[in-house]
Amino acid sequence: MLLLLVPCARAGQAVARDLMGGFGMEVDPALRYPPTRAALLAALARERGRELRLWDESVEGPASARDEQGRPWDAVIAQIAWVEAERELTRALEVASGAPLVLWGGIARTRALELARAAPRALLLVDEEEVALCAWLDAGGERLPSSAPPPAGCARLDARGELESGAELAPWKELSTLPLPARDLLRNERYGIPDVAGAVATTALTRGCPIDCAFCAYVALEGKPLRPRALDHVLRELEQIVELGIPRVVFRDPLFGAQRERTLALCRALAERRWPLRWQCETAPKVLDEERVAWMARAGCEHISFGIETATRRLQKAFCGDKLPDPELARRALRWCRAHGIATRGFFQLGFPRETREEMRATAELARSLDLGSAQFCAATPYPGTALAAALAASDPLLARDARHAPRGNGLLAAEEIDAEIRRAYRRFYGRADRLARELLHPSRLLRRLARWRALGAR
Ligand code: SF4
Repeated sequence: MLLLLVPCARAGQAVARDLMGGFGMEVDPALRYPPTRAALLAALARERGRELRLWDESVEGPASARDEQGRPWDAVIAQIAWVEAERELTRALEVASGAPLVLWGGIARTRALELARAAPRALLLVDEEEVALCAWLDAGGERLPSSAPPPAGCARLDARGELESGAELAPWKELSTLPLPARDLLRNERYGIPDVAGAVATTALTRGCPIDCAFCAYVALEGKPLRPRALDHVLRELEQIVELGIPRVVFRDPLFGAQRERTLALCRALAERRWPLRWQCETAPKVLDEERVAWMARAGCEHISFGIETATRRLQKAFCGDKLPDPELARRALRWCRAHGIATRGFFQLGFPRETREEMRATAELARSLDLGSAQFCAATPYPGTALAAALAASDPLLARDARHAPRGNGLLAAEEIDAEIRRAYRRFYGRADRLARELLHPSRLLRRLARWRALGAR
C-alpha cells in the first residue's frame, strides 16, 4: 500500500500547498484548501493499479508508519511545502520509518540538492510531479533497486553527496489527458473558506502564465506558456465536484480568464447547467472586460482576487509584468465587479528591491482609494527559481533569506521596517470609515484579521 502523505508540521497550522505554484503558503487557520495536486497524483497511481491511501495530516491528524492492517507502507510519497520544509521533512521521515520515501513540491524542484542532502535516501520528483511520478511508477516504483539510476524526472543523492538526476522530462503538455483528482480519497467536508458555509474544492483550467512577473512562483514551476485544459475535461471535473455535494470551487489558475473566448465558453456552459456551484478566482485587472465579468457573475462567480501589486510604474515594469500600467484599469474592473455583485480582494506587495518608503506608502494609498472588499499586503518574497530571487542573490548578499524566506531587507529598508509599512498599509486600508463599519458587522472575521496583524508585528 502506498501512502500519499501531506504532512502537517505544527498542530493548528494551515498551509495551502498548491498555492504559489506548488511552494505552498501559510494561510489563515480557518482557511482549508484541499491538497488537490496530491489527489491528482493519487489518481495517476490508481490508474496504474496501485493501492493507496491519501492522508492530509492537517485535517486527519498524525499519520502512522503503518496502514490500517498494521503493515508498513510500501512507499511514502510526501508533499513538502516551502514554508515548513525542515519540519515537514522530519514528519515524512518519521512516517516512512525506513520505507522508500519520495518527496515532491516546489522545493524538491528548485532546491533539490539541499533537500536530497537533508534526506539522503529519498527520491525527489524534480520535474513536473505528474510526469515524474508516472516515470517512477512505470520504472518499478518502490521495487526499483537502489543501485538503478533515478527514473526520468527524478533525482537522488549519489555516493559522493552530489545530485544524480534521471533524464529531463517535459511538462505534461496536454492537461486534458490527466485523470480527474481522486477526491473520493479526501475528507472533502473538512475543507472550507472562513465565514462561508459548505465545503470547498480547488481546480484549475490552465497552468503557466505569460505575464512572467519576476517574483512569480507559478512561472518558476509551471512555465510561461499557458497550457489550457479542454472545456469538456473541466466540466467533467466540475460535475464530479457537484456530485460529491461540494458547493464551492476556487479556480487556482494563476491568471483566470486569460483566454477570453474559453472563459466565455466556460461561463455559458456553467450558466446553462445551473449547478448549485459558487466559485472564486484570481486574475489581473487588465485581463478582464465587462462582458466577461457579467458572464462570470451569471455563471456563479462570487469573488475575484486581483493581483495589483504596486502603485509604482517603475516597479510594475521591473517586477510585475506591468500588470497595472494605469490604476484606472483596476478602478474599472472593480466597478464592473460591484455592478455584477462580485466581491473583490486586492493583492499588494511591499519591499521590492530598493523600493522606497514613499513608494510603499503610495501603494498603501492606492489600495485605500480602490473600491476593494478586502486587501492582502505582503513582503515581496524571493521564491526559489524566480527572477526576483536571482536578482537579489546577484545584487546584495545581505539580502539573503531568513528562516521565513522573506528577504532581510530590500537594500534600503530592513525587514522590520518593511513589516511596519505592511502593518501601516493594513491600518490605512481598514481604517477607512466605510470599511471599518463593514468589518464590525463580521466580528469573528475582524478578530482573525487582528490576530494576523498582531502576528505580523511579532515576526
Ligand atoms: S500575472 Fe504575474 S503574478 Fe500573476 S500568475 Fe502571472 S506571472 Fe504570476
